[in-house]
Amino acid sequence: MLKDRFGRPITSLRISITQRCNFSCLYCHREGSKGSEDREMTPEEIERVVRVGARLGVRKVKLTGGEPLLRQDVCEVVRRLSGVEGVREVSMTTNGYLLADYAEELADAGLKRVNVSLDTTDPEKFRWLTGGMRVERVLSGIEAALEAGLKPVKINMVVMRDVNHEEVLGMLRRFSGTDTVLQLIELVPGNGEFFRRYFYDLDLLEGEIARRARVVRRRRFMHLRAQYQLNGSRVEFVKPMHNSQFCAHCTRLRITADGKFKPCLMRNDNLIDFLTPMRSGAGDEELERLFRLAVGEREPFFR
Ligand code: SAM
Ligand code: SF4
Repeated sequence: MLKDRFGRPITSLRISITQRCNFSCLYCHREGSKGSEDREMTPEEIERVVRVGARLGVRKVKLTGGEPLLRQDVCEVVRRLSGVEGVREVSMTTNGYLLADYAEELADAGLKRVNVSLDTTDPEKFRWLTGGMRVERVLSGIEAALEAGLKPVKINMVVMRDVNHEEVLGMLRRFSGTDTVLQLIELVPGNGEFFRRYFYDLDLLEGEIARRARVVRRRRFMHLRAQYQLNGSRVEFVKPMHNSQFCAHCTRLRITADGKFKPCLMRNDNLIDFLTPMRSGAGDEELERLFRLAVGEREPFFR
């Protein structure tokens, strides 16, 4: 298994398959990537880079964006990646708007799980945060995903001061008894002014939930992430900022929508373009060299 200089194995790829999005979330960091919208990898190209990764130890692939479901060939991408030898799980992070239309087809294509972003169930607040979208469609998307067996559905909730930090317990109640995990995400800088105004330290909330929760599970290679069980719901905390534990247990290499390896979410100065060489006829050996080069660039951002 391929490890970086800090002993972290590279077992998962997070691939942005498009920069395009139908939402305009006020806080969006676009996966830390501001690449061009014109150049997108084809399903064959995505499959090829995943094959190279799988030979080096990649076992999980997460598709993200932009909004991955805006790609009309998204099911073909999933089908191809699910068939790559060594890959055990293909999952996706989506805003859920088109999920009701796609859930079954995605499950048939081999998708195992989805993360659906849902910061609030208040229709007005949702419209404000997303640039005018309807929350009901996302809620239908979550239901469709559960029906299609894409379980557990992870609900990604970015917690923001005075926007939704008081909605967390209500969100837990709403999904209680369903096969979902509420993932509470700390805001990271995307839009600077928004960050300064709405950042909310999740330690405050984690302390409160830990006191009330019954069962706690810690998953070592998920950034030592704790999972709590409370009133029939499961909840996890994701705190990347200033968190050396988060970095110490990061096993994920990112790929941008325009075909570059991105060794760290927090940096844009060490991207490695593989799509240009791939399109100029580079063989798998050269792609493997670039993959190893990107892994060699990895270092914990917070130590
Ligand atoms: N469009 C899809 C979605 O919204 O799920 C996938 C891409 S989106 C960039 C991936 C995740 O990043 C979402 O759950 C979103 O809430 C989260 N995200 C975006 N900007 C963020 C920020 N500034 N801080 C924390 N999380 C953020
Ligand atoms: Fe960003 Fe996802 Fe919102 Fe689109 S839906 S703006 S990619 S967080």
